[in-house]
Amino acid sequence: MRIEQQRTIAKAVTCKGIGLHTGKLVTLTLKPAPENCGVIFIRKDVKESESIIHGSYLNVTKTMLGTTLTNSSDVDISTVEHLMAGLWGAGVDNVIVEVDAPEIPIMDGSSQPFIAMVEKAGLKTQKSFRKILRIKDEVEVGDKKRSAKFLPADNFTVKFKINFNDNIIGKQRARYEFAADTFKQEIAAARTFGFKHEVEAMHAAGLALGGSLDNAIVVGEDGILNDDGLRFEDEFVRHKILDSIGDLFLFGMRIQGEFIGHRSGHSTNNEILHTLIANPRAWEVIDPTTERPLAPVAAGNFVYA
Ligand SMILES: [Zn+2]
Repeated sequence: MRIEQQRTIAKAVTCKGIGLHTGKLVTLTLKPAPENCGVIFIRKDVKESESIIHGSYLNVTKTMLGTTLTNSSDVDISTVEHLMAGLWGAGVDNVIVEVDAPEIPIMDGSSQPFIAMVEKAGLKTQKSFRKILRIKDEVEVGDKKRSAKFLPADNFTVKFKINFNDNIIGKQRARYEFAADTFKQEIAAARTFGFKHEVEAMHAAGLALGGSLDNAIVVGEDGILNDDGLRFEDEFVRHKILDSIGDLFLFGMRIQGEFIGHRSGHSTNNEILHTLIANPRAWEVIDPTTERPLAPVAAGNFVYA
């Protein structure tokens, strides 16, 4: 196992973008954070005492149209998954994420703009080492229609299969064993997607008001509506891999093992983390300096310990 130090960003960096839910402009600022604190969201538009939301899978409360986290004061932050995936792919462990709205801007619907923000800020190596969540035994959730599974593996690997009943997306499958730049080169640019009739229905119901051809692939009856077409031939399954990585990074550490998704979404991605942690024989947290498991800690206490 490679011993890797934790990283934050070297300086603050800001961007603006549209919120998927509200359609309003959101300002997002990433700031350096101390080691072992993980990803901390701060809502600048609410009372300071209620503004902090830890980026933990334990705080996931809604999984419709993206992943939403909620703190004990009932303050939400939505659409965190593409940012979480971008932070994972850019090698960031600890960061403060300030936003002036209840959601992370959707940007172009992928993780690429967040990777670009981290590259603009630069990375800063910290003293503490990254702890690793090692999968020791198979864990599976879901059913025949949609499922997620963890298996032991030497490296973090994601295998994903989607099966849409249409002739534009159809069946797609992909498998990536992640090395240094794999995410940035193969996954980060893959955009979220939706069907034209679903987008129209959501807009009519006042939902996903910010959703447009600027931040999603829109699939019509006869093909893709985006003028520039697709970024990858199998962009759809690549985006599902991106979503899974963002959702899994809410565990708060990197994973050694294989994740297998079959039509898995934000809900199943969250469920498998809960099921995994409830099965202590299926996992251990490794201190990379000794390669030995750390003493068992109650579920979820790793993230901010
Ligand atoms: Zn997504």
